[in-house]
Amino acid sequence: MAHLLIVEDDDLLRDGLAAQLTQAGHSTATAADGETALTRVLSETFNGVVLDLGLPKVDGLTVLKQLRQSLPALPVLILTARDSVEDRVAGLNAGADDYLTKPFNRDELLARLQALLRRASLVAPQAPTPPRAGSDETAAVRLDPEGWRAWLGHETIDLTQREWVLLDLLVRHTGQVVSREAVLGAWQQEPGETGGLASNALEVYVHRLRRKLSGSSLSIRNIRGLGYLLESTGAP
Ligand code: CA
Repeated sequence: MAHLLIVEDDDLLRDGLAAQLTQAGHSTATAADGETALTRVLSETFNGVVLDLGLPKVDGLTVLKQLRQSLPALPVLILTARDSVEDRVAGLNAGADDYLTKPFNRDELLARLQALLRRASLVAPQAPTPPRAGSDETAAVRLDPEGWRAWLGHETIDLTQREWVLLDLLVRHTGQVVSREAVLGAWQQEPGETGGLASNALEVYVHRLRRKLSGSSLSIRNIRGLGYLLESTGAP
């Protein structure tokens, strides 16, 4: 069970989400504007936030940026009515852990939220420690942004910056499809990136990452037209 903050100015949607998440065994609090959301999130302890981007008083992106300053590890799922790559990338860049575009499927929201909460419970906020063995399908891999390092079990894998960012994104969305746009967007946020990636560059990096993961329980599936999916194929 988690304590969740739902930030949404649409009354029907907000109440519907609260009811659904309560039914799923969580406790919920709500905010109908960005100002209330910031007050609540900074004065109460939440395990996760569902955050609409289009909000009165203070917009969702500003809420996200401000809460990230004091709560860097709080799982945040953003909702956006605007189906544009720029909004999604801006949201991810501002520190969102995942996003859903309206209209969304309620079951998908719940599944993504559960994945965020599960992942957050496995990762210590500042000092990454190895997750307990078998506690998660991605327990085999551990990522440390310091020097773009990663471990598969006790084995270090050497990754380039882009490979690391790609793997990090896939691990954070294990079991979900990560779109090509999300990967390209994440790459472009990295310092030193010059942009202008060729359309086939992503395939090249995925291919290299697959090779580096070969022999492990992890595999990267190409979901045609959608993106990539990290899966665990059982014990290595
Ligand atoms: Ca709204």
